Amino acid sequence: MKLRKKLYLRISFKTLNDMKKYICAICQYIYDPAKGDPEGGIAPGTAFEDIPDTWVCPVCGVGKEDFEPYNE
Ligand SMILES: [Zn+2]
Repeated sequence: MKLRKKLYLRISFKTLNDMKKYICAICQYIYDPAKGDPEGGIAPGTAFEDIPDTWVCPVCGVGKEDFEPYNE
């Protein structure tokens, strides 16, 4: 049980650090992992890498391949 908790904490830490925002190259929509895309079926806290390939930009409808990492 103790071990499991440790593992969980490590994963959370990694996830927080890995969750980058991504911007749509077409319409500049910014995907924020902390918010997700509830209307598109993406729960808050979902990293861009973990979004299904079938997901499309909620604004202009392009696929994930047209997004690029967004650096604030
Ligand atoms: Zn777009």
